[in-house]
Amino acid sequence: MTALRRILATGGESTVVTEVIKRRMPRLPLILYIALSALPLGILCPCAFAEPGESQSAASPVAGSGHPAEQLYLQLRRIGLNPNKTYKVRGAAVDRPGLHLTFDDGMIAFTQDVMGHITGALFEGDGEVLITPPNYEERASMALGTGMAILEERFVSAYLRFNDGTLAEFQPYLRPSAEAADFANRFEGTAENLAELDALRIFTTLSRLLPVIGDEQSTGNTLDPTDDHFLHVRFEGETLGAFDVHYDSLADEQVSAGKSTEKDGVSYYDVWTSFSPASTPRTQAPDFPLEVDSYRVNAHVAPPTDLSADVSLKAKVRTSGDRTILFELSRFLQVKQVEVNGRSVEFINNPALDGTQLSRRGNDLVAVVFPQPLRKDQILTLRFVYGGSVLSEAGGGLLYVGARGAWYPNHGLYPASFDITFQYPRGWTLIATGNRVSGEEESAENPLLESHWKTDRPIALAGFNLGKYVKASAQAGPVLVETFAARGVEKDFPKTTSALPPLPDLRGLTPPGDMPVLNAPQPSPARHAQSVANEAAHSVEFFAQRFGPFPYHSLALTQMPGPVSQGWPGLIFLSSLSFLSPEEAEGLHFSPARSSLRRIALSHETAHQWWGDLVMWKSYRDQWIVEALANYSALMKLETENPGEFRSVLEEYRKELLTKNKDGKTLQEAGPVTLGQRLSCSQFPNGYEAVSYGRGTWLFHMLRYMLLDAEPRKPGVNSPDEPFTRILRKVSERYAGKAIDTHELISAFAEELPKSLQFEGKASLAWFEDGWVHGTALPQYSIHSLKVVPKSNGVTVSGVLLQKEGPPDLVTSVPLYAVVGHKAIFLARVFADGPETPFHLTAPAGTRSVQIDPNSTVLTGGR
Ligand SMILES: [Zn+2]
Repeated sequence: MTALRRILATGGESTVVTEVIKRRMPRLPLILYIALSALPLGILCPCAFAEPGESQSAASPVAGSGHPAEQLYLQLRRIGLNPNKTYKVRGAAVDRPGLHLTFDDGMIAFTQDVMGHITGALFEGDGEVLITPPNYEERASMALGTGMAILEERFVSAYLRFNDGTLAEFQPYLRPSAEAADFANRFEGTAENLAELDALRIFTTLSRLLPVIGDEQSTGNTLDPTDDHFLHVRFEGETLGAFDVHYDSLADEQVSAGKSTEKDGVSYYDVWTSFSPASTPRTQAPDFPLEVDSYRVNAHVAPPTDLSADVSLKAKVRTSGDRTILFELSRFLQVKQVEVNGRSVEFINNPALDGTQLSRRGNDLVAVVFPQPLRKDQILTLRFVYGGSVLSEAGGGLLYVGARGAWYPNHGLYPASFDITFQYPRGWTLIATGNRVSGEEESAENPLLESHWKTDRPIALAGFNLGKYVKASAQAGPVLVETFAARGVEKDFPKTTSALPPLPDLRGLTPPGDMPVLNAPQPSPARHAQSVANEAAHSVEFFAQRFGPFPYHSLALTQMPGPVSQGWPGLIFLSSLSFLSPEEAEGLHFSPARSSLRRIALSHETAHQWWGDLVMWKSYRDQWIVEALANYSALMKLETENPGEFRSVLEEYRKELLTKNKDGKTLQEAGPVTLGQRLSCSQFPNGYEAVSYGRGTWLFHMLRYMLLDAEPRKPGVNSPDEPFTRILRKVSERYAGKAIDTHELISAFAEELPKSLQFEGKASLAWFEDGWVHGTALPQYSIHSLKVVPKSNGVTVSGVLLQKEGPPDLVTSVPLYAVVGHKAIFLARVFADGPETPFHLTAPAGTRSVQIDPNSTVLTGGR
């Protein structure tokens, strides 16, 4: 039942969507995914839920049904309360590692049983929930969300859902009550509505009880032994309103708490905390229950909206016992059939939701129910047949392919080989990940065009784009670079930007309000296809020299409507904005810094071919690595072309980190880069982008210049062999086709640390990882008690380096320069260790004073 471990969570459609959410799914526990995508915003008070019209009678019994899995799921999704299992409760406690709940006094109604199991309860009365996050990072996050570092909240009602023996924990504290029937009736509608939240999660457990088909020897009909313990409680708190607490033994981080909230018409799910309790080691089970080795896809694309496909995939089972495996697939694609090893099986795909409900209540998951429990190392062939409207017409010969990555059944960020055949009408050009092995051929018996694509190395995500394109090409050494651009731009260009979510790679590009409409004639991306190809080829060469060979056979860049760009293996979806001529761009009146960001978008996406596509990230806490590395790589290229612009972009990021939001808070309070997508919350809707691009980029800038100072200008800045790029080349070789985490990345740098950068004589960057990567410091530096004493051949300088506005244990490597005449000459790097650090250095003759970091290589909050 590891299916739920870290699968495929995305922010719901209504939450702030970023480039990377769409590029790749961070692996949050499934429950967060469900919570984020399909929340009825319920508050547990009876008046708010009196919706008898919506409640339906309980689903029919499982036994005897032709679709036992679907029946089970529907039953779990609308499960009501049992008046005969409704009690007074006093002094009950429910404990999980890291989580303590008390139900002091009140009434509790348990849900009807399903296959002999009780999976929920509704409580009203007095109780308390207590969660103590284990570290500073999580306590700060809790404090941002709730105003307190520890969650200690009285509640007046609670809806519980569980998959184990939680009922038994209540049993000794239950007494009969004369009001039982009345209580159960009163809350029936509430319970039924909230049941939907956890139905799929509970289903994956209870599906183990479904009758085994075609294997008499199987012992599948049992939940024991199992390490699968799930508990979700939706509370109505006295001060915090409605909020959630989750415990899931199969999640990477078992305990979490958060709140669904709305601000300025946008829905958010604010994750207050998420952690693994000290007593519960990280689970050793594999990330994904299946190892998908290969996909064979036959897709038929019918512009402007439809896609239908027949997909077969080969996979190896990694753990025994599962009956249900989840795949991500857009909610707008309806699954018609699923086969396992040639035999039809049951599946759950937004059953009983019609089109109008899908976008609001649906999820982008399909659950495949296997006829027998899976066995480790078993080889499976799965086939999915499905179709629906996932494309939309953007005008100007462009289609918007929605749900990228979820257009085929996707089982997580795991590299697989792809063999894809597309059919589509004449007049369109289709570009996909992989190499085109044939097409676009017209045949007599088939009036459609057909093209066939195969990957040359396993990739984690496959995608395609189609439009009425003009093609241009360039060569980057052995790599063919092609651009595909339409003659026009999308019909709502450039006004789309204000309607779309905050900008990802072109973040910060939109001026406040609508973008100004161009006075000039409509731009024609096709006219600039060649210059985009040339520039992309130049980027490929630049990065290949530094980070190792381009990972794929060729690179295609296709124009995409809207302001967002994405870089997939060998295929970049590039915003129409990146196809503008300098004159056309000028018409948009960007500020200079924003123009720079627009200009680096192309090289940023190209750098994702190494950082994000070749080297992936492990968990949501590590996602900043690929975003910040792609961005810093693009900036390194900019530095060779225009050093002044390079510095002003970094300065812009610093300013943004210091800007206060409406509540007077700076992004520092949003948290460290390692909170990943959690940074984007109701208080900081752009938190993830601003922190992972801004602060993340600075973290790499700091590492790079530390190394440059330590190897004083030997290979030289911007040489393909400067120490920073040498280490990154090692990282790209070591982690090619694999995922990296934050500690592994920092360790790769620590391995090559020269003596002069060893804090307290250790070849470790723990001080950087703890204070800077997991921290939010924006310190300020100054020197006091400076003494310049002439010596026989030079001078000695001494003083105290002050580090203010940082945590007391912050350690930072700070470069000090001697001021000689009008020149600043590098002296040494000094470790600022806490608020005051004395230093004593030899300096050249003529030194008048000492300057701190004149080249801005340390992220500070000002001077
Ligand atoms: Zn990016």
